[in-house]
Amino acid sequence: METIIIKPHHFIDIFKLYGSGIEEFVPDVKMGHHFYLIANKIMQNPYLDCQLTIEGDDICQPCHCYQNHQCQDTIFHISGILKKGDYNRLLDQRIIELYHLCDKKYQVLTLCEKLYQHHELIAQIWKEEDANHIKQRHDLFIKGVEKYILKYKSDNHIY
Ligand code: SF4
Repeated sequence: METIIIKPHHFIDIFKLYGSGIEEFVPDVKMGHHFYLIANKIMQNPYLDCQLTIEGDDICQPCHCYQNHQCQDTIFHISGILKKGDYNRLLDQRIIELYHLCDKKYQVLTLCEKLYQHHELIAQIWKEEDANHIKQRHDLFIKGVEKYILKYKSDNHIY
């Protein structure tokens, strides 16, 4: 069975976008990353193994911003943080701690379950962002996971 390496905030982003109505992800030619590839794999295989990381993942590897094993992109919307890599690491550490995730592989459906069970924690993860964005992120993530479960779980039971 194939294993993907993924940052947990990327995993949540994928389901947020799925909840927004994206069914098939397309390449970002400008950035060159593999978000679309990994997202499509996740969408097609609920039993795909996910190895979590707070460093560069399979999405980052071909990205034009990924150099010297670091994200070199910059951000301007979070006070006191300019490097996207620093912000992402903060988000991913929070997700791992708040959801008690560990250094093992999780199948996509299992990870969905863990994140969905305490979806309210999303507000604590992106706490630097404004309330409207946090709510939108939360609601679309929930919608995406519910749609995915209805598609793949044989009993359609939402945790
Ligand atoms: S290197 Fe940075 S910008 Fe590129 S995919 Fe990774 S996190 Fe995103």
